[in-house]
Amino acid sequence: MFNFDVIVIGSGIGGLTAGSLLARYGKRVVVCESHTIAGGAAHSFRRHGFEFDSGPSFYCGLTGANSLNPVKQVLDILGESLDAVRYDPLGHYHFPENSIPIYSDHSLYLQSVSKVTPQGAIELKHFIDRMLPLYEAMKGIPTIALRTDWQMIPILLKNYLPSLLKMLPNLLTVQSSVGNVMDATVKDPWVRRLIDLECFLLSGLKAHGTIAPEVAFMLGERERAGVEYPVGGSGAIIGALVRGLERWGGTLRLGCHVEQILVESGKAVGVKLKNNEIIQAPIVISNATVWDTYTKLLSADDLPASYRQTALQTPAVESFMHLHLGIKASGLENLTGHHVVLHDSKLDITVPGNTCMISIPSVWDASLAPIEHHVVHAYTLEPYAGWERNEGYEAKKVVKAQTLYRALERVIPNIRERIVLELIGTPLTHAHYLRRYQGTYGPAIEATKGMFSGANTPIKGLYRVGDSTMPGIGVPAVAASGILCANTLVTPQKTMELLTTSKI
Ligand SMILES: Cc1cc2nc3c(=O)[nH]c(=O)nc-3n(C[C@H](O)[C@H](O)[C@H](O)COP(=O)(O)OP(=O)(O)OC[C@H]3O[C@@H](n4cnc5c(N)ncnc54)[C@H](O)[C@@H]3O)c2cc1C
Repeated sequence: MFNFDVIVIGSGIGGLTAGSLLARYGKRVVVCESHTIAGGAAHSFRRHGFEFDSGPSFYCGLTGANSLNPVKQVLDILGESLDAVRYDPLGHYHFPENSIPIYSDHSLYLQSVSKVTPQGAIELKHFIDRMLPLYEAMKGIPTIALRTDWQMIPILLKNYLPSLLKMLPNLLTVQSSVGNVMDATVKDPWVRRLIDLECFLLSGLKAHGTIAPEVAFMLGERERAGVEYPVGGSGAIIGALVRGLERWGGTLRLGCHVEQILVESGKAVGVKLKNNEIIQAPIVISNATVWDTYTKLLSADDLPASYRQTALQTPAVESFMHLHLGIKASGLENLTGHHVVLHDSKLDITVPGNTCMISIPSVWDASLAPIEHHVVHAYTLEPYAGWERNEGYEAKKVVKAQTLYRALERVIPNIRERIVLELIGTPLTHAHYLRRYQGTYGPAIEATKGMFSGANTPIKGLYRVGDSTMPGIGVPAVAASGILCANTLVTPQKTMELLTTSKI
């Protein structure tokens, strides 16, 4: 009596990877997206000829054979692909006292750091050397083969024993925070701040809060696979996943807000939409955050009270201020695409407004802006609390955007004179367009203090994917969460058959 085998709530990268992979496995899948544009945090939007990324712009391994990026692995399985532009340095980091280019190539990275601190560069090399064996062990086990239940164990033993053995000497590093590795290898305060900053950009937390495998993977992958920008912007990744979903018979419904997950006798049976339509399926996968899933989509009595309470107590990273600009490009021929600006060394890098991220993707893909213009996205952390759409809202927006303008002035001194389009986004904008609890970046689960939960929930047939599940925040991580969930819903034999037919 079910219309579908699987309903996915949300078309973030977590929802789209789970949905498209399940469609590839032959399931009847519908993805219900509340927004009129797919992609969640990774959606693109167009205004007056400028194509803006709403969120991510740092990517590794989107193209190229044997990529370890789970997005690429899913696209390979779906028979889809992307065009991308490779670049290095991956960005320029601007500190109050100096600016340096950061390279994905480790020897160039170390050369760059040694110009600021020769001893620090030696220590950074020790840090990288401690991290890379973990990456070497992890890279032999493709995410696309993984699942989250006990059936994982025989798969690992049968197919990936050499990589498991390589993992053994790294077991201590696997479980530790980046901070522990940094404490053992780096004393130089400049390099310690650099490592904290790299971690913060990745996980929203500094080195002691970030798990070592995450940074090991980033360091290894960005050198091996290279840093790339997708032609067409982040929306091109979403477009490829949606094409893959539809190619294998899945359906994407936009402007389709799910109001409630329907639960009968402790089992998910479907969803009720905002327009009261009911869609039925024995499997429901929520790509909404943990807080939104357990408060807005389920009734309190659908879940065991203590489980619900613990889940809702998960701490959240702050939200963001965003500045999306269209600017005149004349005279900016040597402009590079990624910049991180730290305003004040005396303030912690995590203090809202102190660290600003800048992306100018039209330097890699000119089609994102009208001729002789660039498209700019700058953002910084900003707490959700205190924001209200009242009479002071517009003025507060302008004041709060100044930290982003000051950051941009480090890169393009006369930026204000160049503006042809200005869009300022606040935590309310972020929460509204991304349908995310308090516009959060995601859970602030510190390494060694807690773990992201898996795809399963106490409700039979209800699963979760996305950045409030394992392995965490970031495009590769949420794609991995979608893979883990989809594979767990089919037999290991089906997964192996699919990998064999797809030659992966
Ligand atoms: C500013 C910013 C910059 C970033 N930069 C990078 C980067 O450079 N590199 C990187 O790897 N990562 C980056 N990230 C992180 C990365 O973008 C996210 O972790 C990831 O995209 C989140 O994906 P997700 O699948 O968890 O869910 P989301 O993207 O949050 O998608 C969830 C979807 O569910 C929908 N939804 C929610 N509730 C409902 C409902 N009731 N009914 C229907 N639909 C619903 C939402 O509309 C949304 O589309 C960045 C994030 C931000 C915000």
